[in-house]
Amino acid sequence: MLSRADCERMDASDPLASARANFVVPAERIYLNGNSLGLQPQAAAAAVQRGMNAWAQEAVGAWNSAGWIALAEKIAGLLAPLLGADPDELVVGDSTSINLYKLLHAALAYTSQERVLLIEQGNFPTDSYVAQGLQRPMRSVPAEQLLDAIDTRVGVVLLSHVHYRTGARQDMAAINARAAEVGAVVVWDLAHSAGAVPLDLHAAGTQYAVGCGYKFLNGGPGAPAYAYVARSRQARLQSPIQGWFGHVRPFAFDEEYQPAAGVQRLQVGTPPILSLCALQAALEDWSQVRLSKVWEKRQRLFELGVALCEQLRSAHSAVGDLRLLTPQDAERQGSQISLQMPMAGPVNRALQAMGVIGDFRAPDVLRFGLTPLYTRYVDVWDAFNVLHSVLRERRWDHPDFLQQPRVT
Ligand SMILES: *Cc1c(COP(=O)(O)O)cnc(C)c1O
Repeated sequence: MLSRADCERMDASDPLASARANFVVPAERIYLNGNSLGLQPQAAAAAVQRGMNAWAQEAVGAWNSAGWIALAEKIAGLLAPLLGADPDELVVGDSTSINLYKLLHAALAYTSQERVLLIEQGNFPTDSYVAQGLQRPMRSVPAEQLLDAIDTRVGVVLLSHVHYRTGARQDMAAINARAAEVGAVVVWDLAHSAGAVPLDLHAAGTQYAVGCGYKFLNGGPGAPAYAYVARSRQARLQSPIQGWFGHVRPFAFDEEYQPAAGVQRLQVGTPPILSLCALQAALEDWSQVRLSKVWEKRQRLFELGVALCEQLRSAHSAVGDLRLLTPQDAERQGSQISLQMPMAGPVNRALQAMGVIGDFRAPDVLRFGLTPLYTRYVDVWDAFNVLHSVLRERRWDHPDFLQQPRVT
């Protein structure tokens, strides 16, 4: 049996323990929701304040004097090592949904009309909705059939690398290789991958990817997202939204659109500078940590969570139908533990009332995000301990917890 003292010992010898001090951790909370909204870096408020000051003091001049015009590119440079990409293959801005639209559109433009867009059943809704909106022939298959479904009838595959509900990670290199064999291309969604698991987009042969700034990257609510396009795809890259920031010379005010070099043509309009300031601070923190240590701790946090889940299940039969959805194989995991159970919504709200912040994904999944930069081993222990009491004492069975709020 694992004890809390074991977890305290693991924290005491954790090489990442000091990174937690770089975050504003909400008082009296066990925060296991960095997979949905990463905590605020201590440096973020000052970074946004500097942006505010530049706005106050220099106003429009700050585009040049404070370097606002180049800020998104600078952030791409900080992001690149987390992805195993080069900075000039990344463009930072817009939301994940918008970047998905741009990349799917661009990828489909070079695919014959008969070839279908293949998606995974049960993918994150925005991915499926954006795909549906493109009005191309589409096919959706369960994740386990995906690899076999990639044949010469498929033009583009849209896939989450780590699935938002189950936390299961796909074999990126194998799927890219299969797609390449049949002349198809994959657009990867890295929302639950960057900052969560090691990524090497080059080694995996990835052509297109998008991802999110506010989850594991800690860029702040609604932080700018990013898009990745392999260098070999950039010459023919066409954005479906030809905005002036994607023009080769925005301030020439030319009549005719002429795309900027490479991936920069995916920029659309004026970047959100204050949001970029927060994202920059978050990624500067990331650049200070040894990534290998992050991945090692992720795995150890996970092993702890799985062991505690087993302890919970064997402790009493009332949780007999609690199931661990996330794969046990470390190579197939993301950075969240997904527990499937009846009444997961009310259980999650009861947990929140007791200070354990995970989240609920309809219809029956409770997620605990593990973020090695600020999650402690004792946090995982405490969370499972509280979950145990919520289930044992049926604390979820209360009118306050049976009603679902707008954001789950
Ligand atoms: C969180 C998430 C998104 C978010 O899209 P937004 O446009 O930022 O709202 C997209 N895809 C996946 C898989 C996600 O998990």
